[in-house]
Amino acid sequence: MLTIFGRIVALAALVTGTLSATVPSPVPSTESDWPFHGRDQAEDRYSPLEDINSGNVQSLGLAWELQLGSLRGLEATPIMVDGVLYFTSTWSRVWAVDARTGKELWTYDPQVPGEWAFNGCCDVVNRGVAVTHGKVISATLDGRLIALDAKTGKLDWEVDTLIDRKRPYTITGAPRIAGNKVIIGNGGAEFGVRGYITAYDIDSGKQAWRFFTVPGSPDGPFEQPELEMAARTWSRTGAWTTSGGGGTAWDSMAYDPDLNTLYVGTGNGSPWSHALRSNGEGDNLFLSSILAIDPDTGRMKWYYQTTPMDNFDFTATQHIILTDLVIDGKPRKVLMQAPKNGFFYVLDRVTGQLISADNYIPVNWASHVDLKTGRPVRNDTSFYDKTKGAFVVPWMGGGHNWQPMSYNPKTGLVYIPAQRVWWRYSATNAMQFDEMVKDFEKTAGADKVFPISGQLTAWDPVKKKPVWTVDQSTLMNGGTLSTGGNLVFQGTPAGTFSAYDALTGKVLKQIQTGTGIIAAPITYKLDGVQYVAVLAGFGGATIMMLDKDAAARTRANFGRLLVFKLGGGDVELPPELDEPFGNDPGATKIAPIPEGEVARGIDLYRTNCARCHGMLTSTSMLPDLRRMPKEFLDNYDLIVREGALAGTGMASFADKLSKADTDAIKTALIWLRDKDPAQFADPSLYPMRTKR
Ligand code: CA
Repeated sequence: MLTIFGRIVALAALVTGTLSATVPSPVPSTESDWPFHGRDQAEDRYSPLEDINSGNVQSLGLAWELQLGSLRGLEATPIMVDGVLYFTSTWSRVWAVDARTGKELWTYDPQVPGEWAFNGCCDVVNRGVAVTHGKVISATLDGRLIALDAKTGKLDWEVDTLIDRKRPYTITGAPRIAGNKVIIGNGGAEFGVRGYITAYDIDSGKQAWRFFTVPGSPDGPFEQPELEMAARTWSRTGAWTTSGGGGTAWDSMAYDPDLNTLYVGTGNGSPWSHALRSNGEGDNLFLSSILAIDPDTGRMKWYYQTTPMDNFDFTATQHIILTDLVIDGKPRKVLMQAPKNGFFYVLDRVTGQLISADNYIPVNWASHVDLKTGRPVRNDTSFYDKTKGAFVVPWMGGGHNWQPMSYNPKTGLVYIPAQRVWWRYSATNAMQFDEMVKDFEKTAGADKVFPISGQLTAWDPVKKKPVWTVDQSTLMNGGTLSTGGNLVFQGTPAGTFSAYDALTGKVLKQIQTGTGIIAAPITYKLDGVQYVAVLAGFGGATIMMLDKDAAARTRANFGRLLVFKLGGGDVELPPELDEPFGNDPGATKIAPIPEGEVARGIDLYRTNCARCHGMLTSTSMLPDLRRMPKEFLDNYDLIVREGALAGTGMASFADKLSKADTDAIKTALIWLRDKDPAQFADPSLYPMRTKR
């Protein structure tokens, strides 16, 4: 494994041309590979490969594709080692594929119970595997960590990582390697869990240590010494004492082998409202924080909390990049993160000291971050509590979400899949999805004051400002890849896959794939051919604005692995739907809802169904219930109460809703269906989905 310093030397050698075929390369064979989640453990998602470059990317085309038989979101970053691509798809399924040809070598289906989908906030997605010690290690939606033989796909070991299977824990993140340990966290803070990460021995699967990100109660027991200090930053009473507090580490980690330090980003509070969660008291450590942990012992070296008193679902689980920067004339070992809260942080990763924090998109919840105290200076007019709501930028989806950014050491720029979105928060609605939806509808028109858009941002972490930005009509755009060929690659839910000039942001090549892309691309080289690979499959968090003609709405969402090369062919587009999913993004205005059963049914729909099936306008990749065929209504109780389709992810609601409640939802669905036949068109176009 190459150290960060070694890598910089190697890159410098590449740039100055001191490498040649006859000189033993200081660059390991992994130069052509993508061996870790972020290509290396510093997670910069930069590949020095430059065969595909800004001068010839115009001839990029499809080398091959592999259909994955999935209909929902694909978020994984593939690993490429030894000529094999390893990745995950929906329902935590694991794949091994020949990286030259796309031939399937093996797959492993961990048989996630369909009803576990109900525990997830954001689809049955998974962001990938770790490959090491001849094993492929990945986590399952229902909280297991599994190790497979990399050659055969046979199960080596499996452990249950959950402390309580009755709580709505899910795992969607990729495990990371630190020394001889594999580390995994989990998600679930939206619905009430207590966050933690666990380290396991790679060979045996035996648990090495566990680090809880929040205390279990104000009085202990404190499972680790750090929690005693953390507990003093929480109220004596408040919702956290029963909700679990949150702070789930559901995505980002990075590892510095020289410092032997693991960096972990933690999530939001449970519930969101600081007033409800902790009686408005205390910073609530270690929510929304970056933790530096000794992977040998599991003890914390330092922490930095990006958003004390988190009130907005401002997670710090966003992608972490480690690199070395020269700041004020001095080389610094830094950690970079653009968490949801809108500020771009540069920390000294040895000490945790804040070096800079500057907003990478418009922000109104804090005026700035005080570099002396390391704390954001809160703007009180954008702070909501039990008595008043607030209009806040960025929204709970963040200025940047899980989609990874990348750092190109040649340009010195970080390429952030950012977005400008507002949200209206109130204390009563924290965790109450239906209330949030109503507030969202009330605020319709605010987009005129503050236009919503995606924004690819090239950020200079030394000069602390953007060098270029590209506005995009879609939100939650795909992760970015940077290459030595002066390129930035990114896909979007509109189905486009683009190559940008890394220095100017000019679009050099755009390919319409016909499938919404949210995952991050990778690149690798085999037998002298450089490839760029990306998973295409729309899903994940489904509250998003989409172009009317975005592929995610207009075409069948068949999950595929797309692999490109110079001189490749065209991408075949999936079939077009006769009627696109969802309505116009702004079309939340429907006819006045009659009082009584319909209104009650719509309220229940919002609370129980909208999270997966979309709000009153479906922008989801899951079936639009207003357009379901007669067959669905005929078998309504069988599906909704008896769980006939539980295997697809449609769990029974019998333990959550009374028969009168599910009947009210049915009444509302029929009313919505009949309300505007033109709008909701021919239900036969939306066959009942019995496949997951
Ligand atoms: Ca969250």
